[in-house]
Amino acid sequence: MSKDDRITLMVKQQLESRGITDQRLLDAMRKIERHLFVNKRDEVFAYDDRPLQIGSGQTISQPYMVAIMTEILDLKGEERIIEIGTGSGYQTAILAELGKEVFTIERIDVLLNRAKKILINLNYNNIEFKVGDGTIGWKEKAPFDRIIITAAAPNIPEMLFDQLAVGGRMVVPVGKRFHQDLKLIVRMQDGEQKVMSRGGCLFVPLIGEDGWQND
Ligand code: SAM
Repeated sequence: MSKDDRITLMVKQQLESRGITDQRLLDAMRKIERHLFVNKRDEVFAYDDRPLQIGSGQTISQPYMVAIMTEILDLKGEERIIEIGTGSGYQTAILAELGKEVFTIERIDVLLNRAKKILINLNYNNIEFKVGDGTIGWKEKAPFDRIIITAAAPNIPEMLFDQLAVGGRMVVPVGKRFHQDLKLIVRMQDGEQKVMSRGGCLFVPLIGEDGWQND
């Protein structure tokens, strides 16, 4: 089967059939070639329905998880987005297609540098990169219209929530080390949090000041 056929099948069988309807998102997932973001030896598995190892004990998320988190963000094209956990850079590319500006932070420098190289090669010029602890956010660039955290937090990261604009949306897996609940948090006019649950999930831990300890 050709690469194009595998992408078409991924979108149809893994995304549309599970209820993803945002057409801009589906188009972005058809356009961005996931095999460019995985290790060479895993290229044949790039369009499979699962996460893959990317080195340093980290993973590229399952395509459906990338899609559902992005759909929850409800992007229209004008948003400033911060992503915590660049990983492979695949999710970053989707965000760069659908929003206005993306600020992405990764704590592991080899991953950040690899992702940055791929994304620059693909000509994305609306992404800023940073190595560091994303749980403290990126104060100089705040406020953000959207926040996406692609690693599992023990609770809602408050320092990041403080950098969310009024009416802004944050998506984050919250819970135990080996089982989390995908949460959507909206910042209300009065600054309060409106928290909604969007189902179970499993992510690698968010490690940092407002996350898990590195052990
Ligand atoms: N969305 C990514 C992709 O599609 O490739 C997957 C990211 S992976 C599931 C989670 C990433 O979060 C890992 O690369 C990990 O190193 C990173 N991470 C964990 N804690 C972090 C923190 N405090 N700040 C920044 N990145 C962090």
